[in-house]
Amino acid sequence: MTLTTRFAPSPTGYLHVGGARTALYSWLYAQKNGGNFILRIEDTDLERSTQASVDAIMDGMNWLNLEWTHGPYFQTQRFDRYKEVIEQLLASGNAYRCYSTSEEVEAMREEAKAKGEIEKYNGLWRDRTDHPEDKPYVIRFKNPLDGDVVINDIVKGDITISNQQLDDLIIARSDGTPTYNLTVVVDDLDMNISHVVRGDDHISNTPKQINILKALGANIPAYAHIPMILGDDGKRLSKRHGAVSVMQYRDDGYLPEALLNYLVRLGWSHGDQEIFSREEMIELFDLTGCNRAPSAFNTDKLVWVNQHYMKTLEPSYVAKHLAWHMAEQGINVENGPALEEIVKVQADRVKTLKEMAQISRYFYEDFTELDAAAVKKHLRPVVKEPLLVVKEKLAALTDWSPALIHAAINDTATELEVGMGKVGMPLRVAATGGGNSPSLDITLALLDQQKVLDRIDQAIVVVEARIANS
Ligand code: GLU
Repeated sequence: MTLTTRFAPSPTGYLHVGGARTALYSWLYAQKNGGNFILRIEDTDLERSTQASVDAIMDGMNWLNLEWTHGPYFQTQRFDRYKEVIEQLLASGNAYRCYSTSEEVEAMREEAKAKGEIEKYNGLWRDRTDHPEDKPYVIRFKNPLDGDVVINDIVKGDITISNQQLDDLIIARSDGTPTYNLTVVVDDLDMNISHVVRGDDHISNTPKQINILKALGANIPAYAHIPMILGDDGKRLSKRHGAVSVMQYRDDGYLPEALLNYLVRLGWSHGDQEIFSREEMIELFDLTGCNRAPSAFNTDKLVWVNQHYMKTLEPSYVAKHLAWHMAEQGINVENGPALEEIVKVQADRVKTLKEMAQISRYFYEDFTELDAAAVKKHLRPVVKEPLLVVKEKLAALTDWSPALIHAAINDTATELEVGMGKVGMPLRVAATGGGNSPSLDITLALLDQQKVLDRIDQAIVVVEARIANS
């Protein structure tokens, strides 16, 4: 049988980092073993499920490039099949109609509680055949009364649960609709899931699901329950801690490679290796290497991983992601340097692509406002002459190359008997509008020659205004 994993989100919100990590681990495990990876949308909660969430989840998966081999399947399209299995369980005596009202069930729980017993349905209708007519009923699964259920969890080890602790859970509501645990079981069975990888918030469902699978004569899949992701305060990661949506990380300027690499390490390790290419992840990942304890999300580390990928991935590839941010910020990149050149000079100067876009605007857009602090510091009356001289030398260049630009700046400084900085800094402010840029010769070379000359003129006007006011 082909190894098959699945990612089974409920479409009640965006794809969050916890879900993405579960999806990643399932995907990796399937990839590693040449298996199938199924995307299953668990949309039976009609009130909370939305098409927008389905789209958001798929956007997140696509952005992370976690491609599924089968699906997406939608549980709402499988109601006939669930009904069939419910009938099958009734026919085989593994389920029964329960006519107890919710008040009665509540009373049973209270009674059990008062006696210090496990609060559960008391099995009143479990073996009865005197079914009333025209009365609503739910269908309950006949959970075994004795013995234990053992989960051989790949991550957590063996977990044993006594059947006495388990309720006869409802598998069909009074309107006939199947409940969550039933749909998961039927799908895992029909989709030949060999490995269920999911968050450990589902661990209490697992013994119930195993019992139903057994009643159906099905093979029990292997389970791997992945511990939760915590925030920096040790509480379960939530919006309070900042971004939790995968697409928010895109918007904030992270590369998908960085988020994936960060997520694979958040809960799994391979020695002390931190950086894993996609191929390495597939080769080295194993569910057995997952941590048993929860992990805390650390944005500083994610930033570090992001910087690594901005600097080391092909600039032309990073440029594609940068293009998205440029467009987001309304920067038209048609007239100006190729974006991969921007990546080459800016990658080690920023934390994110969003920041890279922000600080690269001057390569594409002219400006009339200059950074006030930079003007104050560097466009003093004394720089008029250096600016005029350097402009003349730059204007004379027939080859607009970093080496010749560098020489022009150098010659100006020598000629005027001032330090390089006395020429370079005013020139930088003139050309970029501020006091920070990559190395000046390269920055200027990336800008059009005429553009640089015009910007020097613009800066000279500012300097002259200062002279007039002094
Ligand atoms: N639909 C469930 C969720 O989004 C996952 C169920 C499962 O993986 O078995 O939490």
